[in-house]
Amino acid sequence: MRFAELTTVYNELEATTKRLEMRKILSGLVQRVARSELAEVLYLSQGLLRPEYERVELGVADSLARRALAGVTGTEEEKIRQLTLESGDLGLTAERLFAGRAPPAEVDSRTVAEVYAQLRAIAESAGEGSQERKVLLLSSLLECANATEAKYLLRFVLGTLRLGVREMTLLDALADAYAGGTKEGRRRIEAAFNVSSDLGIVAEALVDHGLDGMDSIRISVGRPVRPMLAERSPDLKDLLERMDGTSVLEYKYDGLRIQAHLPAEGPPQLFSRRLEPISEQFPELLRELPRAIRHRPAIVEGECVSVDPDSGELRPFQAISRRRGRKYDLAKAEEEIPVRLFLFDVLLEGATERMKEDYPERRRRLEALVRPDGSERVALATQQRVTELGAATQFFDQAIADGCEGVIGKSVAPDSVYRAGARGFWWIKYKREYTQALADTIDGVIVGAFAGRGRRAGTWGALLVAVYDPENDRFESFCKVGSGFDDETLAGLKARLRPLETAERPAEVLTELTPDQWFRPSIVIELRGAELSLSPIHRAAFGKLRAGVGLALRFPRFTGRWREDKKETDATTSAELLGLYRSQVRQESSSPADEAPAS
Ligand code: ATP
Repeated sequence: MRFAELTTVYNELEATTKRLEMRKILSGLVQRVARSELAEVLYLSQGLLRPEYERVELGVADSLARRALAGVTGTEEEKIRQLTLESGDLGLTAERLFAGRAPPAEVDSRTVAEVYAQLRAIAESAGEGSQERKVLLLSSLLECANATEAKYLLRFVLGTLRLGVREMTLLDALADAYAGGTKEGRRRIEAAFNVSSDLGIVAEALVDHGLDGMDSIRISVGRPVRPMLAERSPDLKDLLERMDGTSVLEYKYDGLRIQAHLPAEGPPQLFSRRLEPISEQFPELLRELPRAIRHRPAIVEGECVSVDPDSGELRPFQAISRRRGRKYDLAKAEEEIPVRLFLFDVLLEGATERMKEDYPERRRRLEALVRPDGSERVALATQQRVTELGAATQFFDQAIADGCEGVIGKSVAPDSVYRAGARGFWWIKYKREYTQALADTIDGVIVGAFAGRGRRAGTWGALLVAVYDPENDRFESFCKVGSGFDDETLAGLKARLRPLETAERPAEVLTELTPDQWFRPSIVIELRGAELSLSPIHRAAFGKLRAGVGLALRFPRFTGRWREDKKETDATTSAELLGLYRSQVRQESSSPADEAPAS
């Protein structure tokens, strides 16, 4: 495919806010593009060079991009800076400077593969003289570009492409193109993606073998599996009932989830809950895991918690969060904030995919895999099989006393396989908060802000927060939150959110409110509130309970926890919010009138 053709499609995508139309454009695109360029087109359209978990970065700063643009167009860098201050987008500036400029005929036939190879070269140039090399490579890309190509090339290298094309929409497009748009086809394609986390591999297998190719995609060391997730129960009685009276209860440790991949040889690789590579942040685990795990290759999962070095007691989440994202003083951090990884699952052991085995079998395998005295830093999650409420309550109390958030009930049924990327009742969490008015905290995405007054003048007075609706790939507002922010957080709030500012309401955000500032959905924060109520101005689960109303969180409060381990699409979903509302209605046994069906 010619690169010019791809950027014309990007223009079409940019011109629409309708998801169905976007899906149609994308399914047309993936059908037209040759197999050899399919993976590249899928990555590029998301603003990536490789699957997200590989974190391949271009390393192109604004100034470097300006320099390349100045050289190619013969415009002063200062002029480019000025123009960009006005438009807010170097891509638009480039489009303007390139207007009417026709690239030579032979370069107009430049293919996506050629452009991609050059972009990879930009990403790969590192070390001494790399800045110069990057400028040269980018300049040569721009030399051959028309105005539209220049716009998208610059946005791409600066990481501001933002076509609103997310994984879920691409999965829809692939299902439309290669599985007749059927629900079953979509489900199988998503399942393959959940195991591989790589749309390129999934798409190529679809082209080669159709839907049957989906079953051939296997778990592989070095490629993170999308995590299995838990549903919630309002109380332990409900939890046990849902598990048909028998469950293995485990401590719900309050830390960071880690998926550890141990290759047959060489150091382990660690991935976060959102599949970021985080190996460098936990050098002690890289050292200790090979000592603790008997067979390799292996993929295991666990929760990493900070422990008190003297007593061995678990420390609260805030402690380990200080090790996340840290780039400097790693050795000092290792000493000051020691951690322990509590393993709770095994996904691969040698050549055997354990994911397909039921939970009791996986746990047996895990116990055999971990050397009990292998390492102080690696342990098994504490668990107990329970069949009656008294024992469950006792175990829960013990979990809290030992510094955990609560418990997770795990199904022992024959179908309790590891379901990558799925939230279901095979795992049910029950947290300490559930004993409060509103069961559980809510992880919301910041989509807007209202100016502060009085003591808050100069910063944001309240934030507009949304839940995620994966069905429609939309962010739906459910509250305005102004409480729970301490002075330090308030002081840094504007700067923290500034990179996400956008002049218009992002097309994927739904709300009846108009904040003073819109943000691109990206940052997730944890909120607590008194209760969920029906609301005409919020759009969460809109029309699901009654026509024309959504759900709102009353008296919301920031818990102080930035969910940096979650990306925007990992936030609480509208369906979960609805579930919380319903369990709250059940608990209060309030009038069923509230639940009049939507007309
Ligand atoms: P939360 O905000 O409640 O931690 P979450 O959205 O991150 O939830 P859930 O699947 O809803 O994820 O809850 C399970 C989470 O609990 C896991 O992602 C993991 O980080 C953590 N966890 C702690 N202990 C365990 C355990 N024994 N088994 C499974 N998960 C555990």
